[in-house]
Amino acid sequence: MTTQNTGSRALIVVDVQNDFCPGGALGTERGDEVATKIADLISTQSDRSGEYSHIVATQDWHIDPGAHFAENPDFVDTWPVHCVADSEGAALRSPIANVPFDEYFRKGEYEAAYSGFEGASISGKALLAEWLRTRGIENLDVVGIATDHCVRATVLDGLKEGFGVRVLADKCSPVDDARGAAALDEMRDAGAEIA
Ligand SMILES: [Zn+2]
Repeated sequence: MTTQNTGSRALIVVDVQNDFCPGGALGTERGDEVATKIADLISTQSDRSGEYSHIVATQDWHIDPGAHFAENPDFVDTWPVHCVADSEGAALRSPIANVPFDEYFRKGEYEAAYSGFEGASISGKALLAEWLRTRGIENLDVVGIATDHCVRATVLDGLKEGFGVRVLADKCSPVDDARGAAALDEMRDAGAEIA
């Protein structure tokens, strides 16, 4: 990566959870590949002298999300049961599971919540945008699952919240390849840098 260390860039790892990886309730084909790539990226940052001042994870975390769960899901707006709070499916995927994140943001307890910006911190229930601003963060790198859903929503919300947003596309896994490619175009059109 070529970006300078400004001390104001955070890495947002979106929903790298067991249910979104191969074998999970909503497994995406490249889930394990991106989990490994993201863990490798973070391992180069572990002394915090790297590019990121903060590294956080988001998690889909459902208790009773209404019509987000469906018996006959369309895999666009409705889904099989996934990421039930405190279940193995909702846990972060290895090797991401071993990363000491600065904070975890959980979303979707009682409704569909695609964007990490709907997530609240587990330690203090701060919303993601507020948490980042409090720490002087102005720029975000976004990675994770799924490119065409929660990564997309997180990136678009990040731009709306005024952050500079870069998407590390090789570290994002789509539900559907064509929708994933379209989502990257949409994020670029909205002002994100696709790297
Ligand atoms: Zn969900």
